[in-house]
Amino acid sequence: MPKKNKEGITVKKDENFSEWFSQIIEKAEIVDIRGTAKGFMVIRPWGAEIIENMYKLYEKELHKKGHKPTFMPSVIPEENLKKESSHVKGFTPEVFWLKEINKEKLALRPTSETLYTPMFKLWIRSHRDMPMKLYQRGSVFRLDTKSTRPLIRTREILWIEAHDAFATKKEAEAQVQEDIQITENVMHQQFGIPFLPMKRPTWDKFAGAEYTIGSDVLMPDGKLIQQPSTHLMGQKFSKAFNAKFKDEKGKEDYLWTTAYGPAMSRILVSVISMHGDDNGLILPFMLAPYQIVLVPIFNAQNKSKVIKYTHEISNKLKCYRTYIDNREEYSPGWKFNEWELKGIPFRIEIGEKEVKEKKFTLFSRLTNKKDLISIKNLSKIDKLSKEFDKNLIKKADKFMDGKIEDCKSQEDLKKIINNGKIARVNFCSTDSNGEKCATYVEKELIAEVRGTYANKNESPKGKCIICSKKSTDIVYIGKSY
Ligand SMILES: [Zn+2]
Repeated sequence: MPKKNKEGITVKKDENFSEWFSQIIEKAEIVDIRGTAKGFMVIRPWGAEIIENMYKLYEKELHKKGHKPTFMPSVIPEENLKKESSHVKGFTPEVFWLKEINKEKLALRPTSETLYTPMFKLWIRSHRDMPMKLYQRGSVFRLDTKSTRPLIRTREILWIEAHDAFATKKEAEAQVQEDIQITENVMHQQFGIPFLPMKRPTWDKFAGAEYTIGSDVLMPDGKLIQQPSTHLMGQKFSKAFNAKFKDEKGKEDYLWTTAYGPAMSRILVSVISMHGDDNGLILPFMLAPYQIVLVPIFNAQNKSKVIKYTHEISNKLKCYRTYIDNREEYSPGWKFNEWELKGIPFRIEIGEKEVKEKKFTLFSRLTNKKDLISIKNLSKIDKLSKEFDKNLIKKADKFMDGKIEDCKSQEDLKKIINNGKIARVNFCSTDSNGEKCATYVEKELIAEVRGTYANKNESPKGKCIICSKKSTDIVYIGKSY
């Protein structure tokens, strides 16, 4: 007896996004939140394979840009962590401390500037040793005291952190720009997630950085989620660790460093939320653990014929990640639902008719449409897969259309952000002088000043929307996670 249809998602994405998200990550078998410490999560094979594919594509791009891999310790001696004063101030409340061993106190790394800088000091003697561009993949641990949510707000984050050292400020600043380009090339062009590069206000920069540029992604519920950030550390850490080099003239100077941190487990939140629909996940072709699932539809009479033909097709698709679902205890309908829930881009259905006509039926998860294609045209899948990702990106970009609105009054501002949009406003200042107005936005509007648009040099015309003083910046305000 074929098993009954697996229970799908029971709420609509646009009616109750939060519940939709909770259901999809559980039902599509991305995570399991049972039986672990609060704020930590188990990533199941389906989720892990997606994350693994994300890592591969990200690391490929980092290598292309001259980065080399490293593995650094998960623990940081207290002495290191405390070297840079603003860094320690910002991170101390979030640090997991381990038991003191031989009078040495160790912290689980919340980020790794204080692991890389002492190594830069040992590995870099002169300008000839630079640029030194390193990265590692791994976990960081942050004792976030706010309420945790699987993948969105966790105490262990699966990420990549790149740490780079340069001889001049100019080169370090160019790296910050390259990091934004890496986010564009990978997160947007390959994963289909559009973002706004926001230069954070002073009060919101990374603890220890000269400045931070974060990538803000709008979620379907109208809230922004921070994705990869890049930071100009300048000479702050190198001065704290006395990490110097000799320039061309033999003169000593401190290293210029940068850091970049794309978190795979967090980007997955955006991949799920941006592309998924009421039936489940829709995965970019490049990220799907199985890119094509083949479902033979047979009865006792035609079974061997249908299965044979399915293998014949599958053998011609060896350059893709495919799976033949010939489980007999599940009905074809059950299987269709299952693979739609799990977001596989293409499904090939093969039954009596397809065998007879030397064709196959191709279902696209993006259009939810079926096409009958001749086996002679099997190579079309290459073009279709590229189109799949291209159209997925187009759809995500379209979601952003009209989502940023200029506004002149506080009333407007309130309306726009409560409608799930981002407000673009005149603001007094993104240095410490503007913090009071930002606090007002936080308290009264339950929203955040996310910063100025990086590299756009937008100049304000008018007064600060909050305090009516002269404005020096145009900032973007939205609700956030
Ligand atoms: Zn103001």
